[in-house]
Amino acid sequence: MATNDERRSLPTPLVIRLRSAWLALLGRTEPPAGAGVTAAKRMLAQPQALLIEQLIGGLPAAAIVLDREGRVIAFNEAAATITPALRRGEPALIALRMPELVDAIRRATKRHEPQRVEFFERVPLDRWFEAFVTPVPLSTAGGGTVDILLMTFNDLTPLRRVEEMRADFIANASHELRTPLAALLGFIETLQGPAREDPVARDKFLGIMQGQATRMARLIDDLLSLSRIELNAHLQPSTSVDLAPIVRQVVDGLQMLARDRGVEIKVVLPSDALMILGNRDELFRALENLVENALKYGAAGKRVDITVVHAQTRVGLPEARVAVRDYGPGIAPEHLPRLTERFYRVDVTDSRAQGGTGLGLALVKHVLNRHGGRLTIESTPGEGATFTMHIPLRAGE
Ligand code: ADP
Repeated sequence: MATNDERRSLPTPLVIRLRSAWLALLGRTEPPAGAGVTAAKRMLAQPQALLIEQLIGGLPAAAIVLDREGRVIAFNEAAATITPALRRGEPALIALRMPELVDAIRRATKRHEPQRVEFFERVPLDRWFEAFVTPVPLSTAGGGTVDILLMTFNDLTPLRRVEEMRADFIANASHELRTPLAALLGFIETLQGPAREDPVARDKFLGIMQGQATRMARLIDDLLSLSRIELNAHLQPSTSVDLAPIVRQVVDGLQMLARDRGVEIKVVLPSDALMILGNRDELFRALENLVENALKYGAAGKRVDITVVHAQTRVGLPEARVAVRDYGPGIAPEHLPRLTERFYRVDVTDSRAQGGTGLGLALVKHVLNRHGGRLTIESTPGEGATFTMHIPLRAGE
């Protein structure tokens, strides 16, 4: 007679078929009917299974333990999120849909050697994993050994995303540099050949070449600034800085551009100082980028307002807000979340025509991150855009 426990874990026909398939895959045969339960009990005593369960329960990485027949002995919570169909006592084949992993289990069992595989999951989200399948001979209370398979998983997704971003970044940076470089080479060739004796063409081409070389220099400057800020991202600035003089200096420096574009800049500053812990040059550069963008892209509105106020963060901490508002064409909502990505531009031709590199807002975002602040962007198409720098104020300010 089967005990209650044994009856509860008696295999259903589907499980029997899957187990046979699993065993065939591992190169084994099905044990005689009824032997499964008692064999499993002989293979791993209950306290050992519990110990394994507790042990892997404490691991941050996903872990699954199988017996030599490929049945699941234990798994932790992290493993359940990767393979939600895992059930203790059932063949792992039911839950593990990744052929690479099934192959690795088969190899580890056959060769008694650890295996490493990488696999990719599309559903519910694109994710990359590496799995280590390690055969472990476990000593039993009776003095024998039982072979189990320990599988651990690492989520490689963040690493892959960084690799992708780096590759994209290099491709974008090279492309941005190659375009003006190709133009320069083309004009040099023309000046050496057909335009050699043509002073009018020479002057015109030299002017264009200067523009292209300036663009390359600006791009390299922006790239270097970005990488410097990123390198120091973990170091919060510790120098006390007043924001008001920075705002005034940025505005003074851009008055000429404003006149050129027919735009009037209006500044509203609080009467008292706005002391923050910051890097003066970085903050200057960030604000200059925002005001320059407002003058370039929002020139049609003829007016740019810069408003600086004391405010509070969502959790009630004091912060300074520097808002740059223009009355130009604004930005369609689908672009807003991507504007701070490197090289992202709403209209590449327009940005290039304005001498843009596509790195300005990425720079602003990184500067603010380093200062413990953030950038918010609001825009109603047709009515202009507001870019706001939120910077924590020094305690007591
Ligand atoms: P760029 O060097 O091209 O100006 P930014 O990172 O500073 O690069 O800006 C990214 C893009 O955001 C710009 O190309 C432009 O399309 C858009 N943009 C930025 N500021 C404004 C603004 N005030 N009004 C409309 N569009 C803007």
